[in-house]
Amino acid sequence: MIETPSSAASLATPYRTHTCGALRASDAGSPARLAGWVHRRRDYGKLTFIDLRDRHGITQVVVDAGDAPEASEVAARMRPEFVVAFEGEVALRQPGTENAKLETGAVELQVRTATILNEAKTPPFYINDPDAQIDETLRLKYRYLDLRREAMQRRLLLRSRLVHAIREVHHGSGFVEVETPNLIKSTPEGARDFIVPSRLQPGEVYALPQSPQQLKQLLMVAGVDRYFQIARCFRDEDLRGDRQPEFTQLDLEMSFVDEATVMDFVERMAIEVSRAVVPERALLATPFPRFTYAEAMERFGSDKPDVRFAMELVDLEPELRGTDGAAASGFRVFDEALAGGGRVKAITVPGLADAPRSRIDELTEAAKRFGARGLAHLSVEASGSIKGPIVKFLGDDLAERLAARAGAAPGDLVLIVADTTAVTNDVLGRLRAELGTQLGLADPDVLAYAWVHRFPMYQWDVENGRWDATHNPFSGVVPEDEVLLTTASGDPALPTPDDPAGRARAMQYDIVLNGWELGGGSVRIWRHDLLERSFALQGYTRERMQNMFGAMLEAFEYGAPPHGGIALGIDRWAALLSYQVNIREVMAFPKTQSGSDLMLDAPSEPDAAQYAELGLRFVGVPTRPS
Ligand code: ASP
Repeated sequence: MIETPSSAASLATPYRTHTCGALRASDAGSPARLAGWVHRRRDYGKLTFIDLRDRHGITQVVVDAGDAPEASEVAARMRPEFVVAFEGEVALRQPGTENAKLETGAVELQVRTATILNEAKTPPFYINDPDAQIDETLRLKYRYLDLRREAMQRRLLLRSRLVHAIREVHHGSGFVEVETPNLIKSTPEGARDFIVPSRLQPGEVYALPQSPQQLKQLLMVAGVDRYFQIARCFRDEDLRGDRQPEFTQLDLEMSFVDEATVMDFVERMAIEVSRAVVPERALLATPFPRFTYAEAMERFGSDKPDVRFAMELVDLEPELRGTDGAAASGFRVFDEALAGGGRVKAITVPGLADAPRSRIDELTEAAKRFGARGLAHLSVEASGSIKGPIVKFLGDDLAERLAARAGAAPGDLVLIVADTTAVTNDVLGRLRAELGTQLGLADPDVLAYAWVHRFPMYQWDVENGRWDATHNPFSGVVPEDEVLLTTASGDPALPTPDDPAGRARAMQYDIVLNGWELGGGSVRIWRHDLLERSFALQGYTRERMQNMFGAMLEAFEYGAPPHGGIALGIDRWAALLSYQVNIREVMAFPKTQSGSDLMLDAPSEPDAAQYAELGLRFVGVPTRPS
């Protein structure tokens, strides 16, 4: 574990000999000077007790009016959050009054002199009550006070240790840390760009990087070999709990690699970092399980499966077809789905066989919300008999075989969706994730990393008549599928929905942690001819291609090594390692759902001079997206 040296002598300053987390029983009898914030003050007539706080801890300070009358007067004026300093002697606490919850709980500082360094207004919320329910708007407006709270300090420190550990592993593995600029040209990652008007070149704008993607690939052309950066990325999209307009990625790129080289390095790095930052948390499996996209969708109905619990999707089809191969289960919804090329699949929910009608209705509603037409169910009663409204269509025998195929035991509930493959997998995948949380099936202490790779390279964009890259426009094709890219169905410059490229799989891999996508990357297309073809499939004209990616296309004519990389969301990683579901909880100064910084009051209107300098004028303010 990488420790923050709270007790180190190097933290001594003219204001203090020790931090508020440093004093121990062995210091009893020594003089000490402490400085910090008043966490709590208790007056007992002659005696005043002050809990003095800094980010290293809390130390109890005692002022005895008999021994130090002046200090006692000063202490009487101290209020919560005043910045104060004390000088005195460390003493063991009275037997029975030690505080085992504090690391400094064996001792107290018996004060000779007390100083108020700075007064404080009454804070808008309690900083010293860990259970206080505080409105988030208030927390964000007074973030500097919110960050004083112990839980926030702990998360900030965890994040700092995380980044430290990441740097250590990379520096130890031949990586070079390179900073790439923030004022650049668009590097698309599927979101809108934030743009910055140029004063020196009126009428032109920079784009803030959605990621350093093109720059890191150019660094590979530059021969850097292994690059990493703790990079700030900017994406103008609607915000959710795990999204912010600016966020931080661990961005890396490696030369002369294939998929396995990158995945193996990232896996080792993630293990070492996790062990360094949260040694108390168990890793579910090493090596991390690796699923192809197809397998992940088939088994978990998700490309970011939470593998801390099973509840896998089971294909019921083999039981539903007769000996002649026709779907003849007797239940029309199942038979029609199969006849139409769809699927009938199930998940088995432990212990829900006795769920009341209202609970089944809720699950059915959820399934509909996720896009299914309905949800069928079978309950396995304690006696082993199968109940449910569809049993009268299926017959007891088939119902029993279906429940057995789904692996259901007495007391279990089998939920069945019959629809297209995509809808069936997706709906069951979401139900699985939701029920996993609701029923507490996932051990919150465990870290379950997994890989999902071999994603489809493209998906047909009906509206625009082109193939959209499912991930990154620069992702390479798996070597076996290269031929699918090079054989066009017609004019290679004009994408069509029948292009064999639609079946191509990308050398793309996502790393997943506890059901969250932690990061994604790919081995890139590094051959000029394939890159041009891929861009053409994605509907870029030569001109647009040149305009958007000119530097990269040109660079690729000067000897680009095979290369690949990945980016991992530091905010998400820090959130998952500190049991948070919202990344705002691990960001020092996050923005609200509408992209505002409530503390600095940003965004704000430019002043008149700025308009003039930039030659800008808002011609109309669009209505805010709701
Ligand atoms: N640039 C990609 C992203 O930000 C990551 C990568 O492919 O390396 O999502």
